[in-house]
Amino acid sequence: MILDAIFPGVFLSINGKIGLFSVVLLLGVWEVYSYWYFNNEKFLKLKFGIEKHTIDCNNLNEHIEELKKTRLDINSYDYGFGDRYDTSRYSFKRNEWKKTERDGKVHNCSASVCKAANDQPFKYLCKYFDINVSEETLSHLENALNNYLAAYQGKILLEQERDRLMQTLTDPLPSLFYKLSKSRLAKELGFEPVRLFDIDFQTYRFQYVSSGGNSSYEVSIILDMENLEKFIKYIGDKLRLRNSAKGQRALMTPQLREKIKQRDNNTCQRCWVSVKEEPNLLIEIDHITPISKGGITTEDNLQALCWRCNRTKGAKLS
Ligand SMILES: [Zn+2]
Repeated sequence: MILDAIFPGVFLSINGKIGLFSVVLLLGVWEVYSYWYFNNEKFLKLKFGIEKHTIDCNNLNEHIEELKKTRLDINSYDYGFGDRYDTSRYSFKRNEWKKTERDGKVHNCSASVCKAANDQPFKYLCKYFDINVSEETLSHLENALNNYLAAYQGKILLEQERDRLMQTLTDPLPSLFYKLSKSRLAKELGFEPVRLFDIDFQTYRFQYVSSGGNSSYEVSIILDMENLEKFIKYIGDKLRLRNSAKGQRALMTPQLREKIKQRDNNTCQRCWVSVKEEPNLLIEIDHITPISKGGITTEDNLQALCWRCNRTKGAKLS
């Protein structure tokens, strides 16, 4: 027990009500003491000493949150909406009909289409959600995967950097807080909370409801990082079959990202800061000529940039 570690021996002599009272009392004392400590001049001095780094970490956190919001933007067709009413004279049990949704990412279909979509998700995704097998679609998918991978790596690096900074505080009390309640110490130092795995991946659904409305099932295709990578390969293969002259084009995969980082020595090609100087530096992969300006994924059009330079470049372009 944590308190036992802090106040050794106290718990040896207590039991029953006295024990409970002591625990509450100790927690109260600890809380008051923590409050006093975090508002104490000595702690505020430590906090101020690393402020520059805290702000940098918070900026990275904000940047990662922006990367996580990347949408796929791949199905452009809008079918519009109609209103459906059950106008039957008799009270049928159409429970499942009530649950059906109409949305650009839900396709209501027959049982056989649902089954086929489960067997070959990407094929049916393209067919029923009007996703064109094109260079443009591929670029959108690659951009999303590239951003999600950067967000994922960035969060891990950010957490490591935050921990490293907290461990540089040589005062014994921050070290104790670091062991007991890392998140409390981080909060008091002014770090924004790091949310690790909450990317809202785009999901497409095939939904079947029987004509009587009593039975139903659905197939969900979540375009998470693993599926996105497979989808990119699928679209890439289809495009190559149609147009073999584009053999130079590479696919943005985790392997290609690592290859470019290695080629550029994990060094930002704009400000030349590298992971040697900043071990927890997030290096991103940038299209030199942006996709929006017709740039494609070829090795010569890719470079390693630190997140700060990539963010500045992105802001200038938009
Ligand atoms: Zn840079």
